[in-house]
Amino acid sequence: MQVVDTLGRPLRALRISVTDRCNFRCRYCMPREVFGPDYAYLDRSALLSFEEITRLVRIATGLGIAKVRLTGGEPLLRRELPTLVRMLAAVPGLQDLALTTNGALLGELAPALRAAGLKRLTVSLDTLRPDRFQSLSDTDLPLDKVLSGLEAARAAGFGPIKLNCVLQRGVNEDEILDLAAFAREQGHTLRFIEFMDVGTTNGWKLDSVVPAAEIRGILQARWPLEPLPVAPGQVARDWRYRDGRGEVGLIASVTAPFCRDCDRARLSADGHLYTCLFAATGLDLKGCLRVGHSDADLTALLSAHWGRREDRYSELRRENTQGLPRIEMSHIGG
Ligand code: SAM
Ligand code: SF4
Ligand code: SF4
Repeated sequence: MQVVDTLGRPLRALRISVTDRCNFRCRYCMPREVFGPDYAYLDRSALLSFEEITRLVRIATGLGIAKVRLTGGEPLLRRELPTLVRMLAAVPGLQDLALTTNGALLGELAPALRAAGLKRLTVSLDTLRPDRFQSLSDTDLPLDKVLSGLEAARAAGFGPIKLNCVLQRGVNEDEILDLAAFAREQGHTLRFIEFMDVGTTNGWKLDSVVPAAEIRGILQARWPLEPLPVAPGQVARDWRYRDGRGEVGLIASVTAPFCRDCDRARLSADGHLYTCLFAATGLDLKGCLRVGHSDADLTALLSAHWGRREDRYSELRRENTQGLPRIEMSHIGG
């Protein structure tokens, strides 16, 4: 069965946050003033167990979900993550299983994740400058740890690896060509993401956004590009380098919203289902699991919840959405 929402959008993809903790404190996501030593992270018992996550994914595949992406917080901090990957990889009907990570622990974990059945990997990389890396990520871990993690992932058989770069005006916009050159040389697929107003703590301003069209102009002037076809539900607009050195993606979530095609739900680490990255409240699936709802009950709940969905926050952003409550990115998982 394929469920659709009030705007006729199917439910096809699920992002699962497996932890709300992170070993970085990127200023645009978990600023240290908010996510400091006293921040109340979820207790272990509040996290969905691997069995609970796998059960929900099995039920969701019955409603049309074909793709799952694991995220966080930093997903590689979740203990025994390859075990979860192995359990999800065995769910019938699931066609794609991917993970987004900051890359710092890939050196240790990439082989086990690959062996467990992880198909695709996205690594966040906003800068190639060691000093800038440490100030942007606000971590003592060096940039080399991420770069060697990328090497380890390639050696483990992942490829092409996607690199996510969030550009901010006056912060790292001067690295567009350096990052693209690095990705071209290494055979990775770089995607530039417009800085978004997720959560309420990252100090977002519209003039910090570097528009995707501007990024494309800078790339195009150096390496001619041609557009690639867009698949249903795809958020990035992909371009091919005409010289045959791979592809580059642009995610214009702010300047060219794609709500009309949005087919994603998000499951937070504590088991709430959100139907938009900018939602303020979610459906408490963990509560339903733990009071003993049957698979049929959960299927009906999920299906009704998606059926009521009206979200199109990014399309409405230009109207008055600032100041409304919404969930933090590290909780819901990007
Ligand atoms: N910790 C992992 C990582 O950094 O890849 C996974 C979780 S992180 C929340 C997922 C993605 O969201 C990252 O690529 C990150 O750059 C992106 N992100 C976080 N805050 C953002 C913001 N305000 N605007 C755009 N992208 C953001
Ligand atoms: Fe951590 Fe990822 Fe957020 Fe950076 S973007 S603070 S690495 S969760
Ligand atoms: Fe989807 Fe919400 Fe983002 Fe629009 S704003 S694309 S509905 S997650």
